[in-house]
Amino acid sequence: MQRGSRKALKGIMGHGCQEQLLETTDSHLWSTEPSGHGQAVSWPPVEASFEKTLEQCSVCAKPIMERILRATGKTYHPHCFTCVVCQRSLDGVPFTVDTGGNIYCIEDFHRQFAPRCSVCKEPIMPAQGQEETVRIVALDRDFHVQCYRCEDCGGLLSEGDNQGCYPLDGHVLCKTCNSARIQALTAKATTDL
Ligand SMILES: [Zn+2]
Ligand SMILES: [Zn+2]
Ligand SMILES: [Zn+2]
Ligand SMILES: [Zn+2]
Repeated sequence: MQRGSRKALKGIMGHGCQEQLLETTDSHLWSTEPSGHGQAVSWPPVEASFEKTLEQCSVCAKPIMERILRATGKTYHPHCFTCVVCQRSLDGVPFTVDTGGNIYCIEDFHRQFAPRCSVCKEPIMPAQGQEETVRIVALDRDFHVQCYRCEDCGGLLSEGDNQGCYPLDGHVLCKTCNSARIQALTAKATTDL
């Protein structure tokens, strides 16, 4: 009998996707002279040449006048450096980048790339404030602990008396329901004779 195995994942490392935790670095290159609003008279001092030396934001392509946020080898306005999913600014917040260079907050990254539970189809990711995800792998499928239940009686297979998975024809069953099904099949086979 094949039993389900419990796999604890550190985050989602080792699951085929690259996770890099990166910190943003701020640089306060341009200590703004009291620029006020719309006082182009005093600032920037030499408009044309000054604008050329300004770094451009890699999102909006506008020059960065104040604080430059550097991340993934590019420069951003702090408010332009956002998660591609929830659009919130990741200025000073841990973020991660997928292979296509898209930037995600950690939560959305997990939601996007975490393995999906084969029962509820939701991503299997760490609970709030926790580092570790517990995922059950059985029959080459992934399960939440709470979704890993016998298909017939609904009993949890990861704990309790009925522990362990006794699969039959790709169905996830507890021991009792597995033998009940086998008995039913045998009985049918006998009566068919
Ligand atoms: Zn920008
Ligand atoms: Zn997000
Ligand atoms: Zn689930
Ligand atoms: Zn059962």
